[in-house]
Amino acid sequence: MNDLVSYVQNHIERGSCQCGKCFDAPAEPKQPTGHTADVVFFKVKVLNDPKADELKSLIASYPGVFTKTDLLDGKEHNYLEVGGWIGDQGLALMLMGLGELVGLWKLLTPRSVLGNELPDDLVQQMAGMGFVAIQSGNHVSELVEKLDHTPDYSDHYTNI
Ligand SMILES: [Zn+2]
Repeated sequence: MNDLVSYVQNHIERGSCQCGKCFDAPAEPKQPTGHTADVVFFKVKVLNDPKADELKSLIASYPGVFTKTDLLDGKEHNYLEVGGWIGDQGLALMLMGLGELVGLWKLLTPRSVLGNELPDDLVQQMAGMGFVAIQSGNHVSELVEKLDHTPDYSDHYTNI
């Protein structure tokens, strides 16, 4: 088994899926309590003191199962895409919650983006369409830095 996969499994406790459609959902669904991340389908909580640096290097060396992607490039990556990369959507959501909890990226969910008052059925509907994503945080500052160093071509424009 790949190191990244076992790292995620060893450092995350996950709740049962709350989508209401999973045939194998338990009769009494349970979610972890305390300091958790909400990946909409379930909540996750860290176990065994995960480290951002360790997770980052495991991500960098992971080859990808069905697709290749760079989770830390500052772009949005949703769980469908991360699932194609890590090989399983449940595992993708666990990794996305883990990265949020160790500070590698921010979770973007219907409620984190549009507000807590969004009704449950709409949240689940949007999540089903792929609206659970991550975006790494340092991209904005890099972008601002790039903009600051963009040469000014304004005096090269001519009227045509
Ligand atoms: Zn489900």
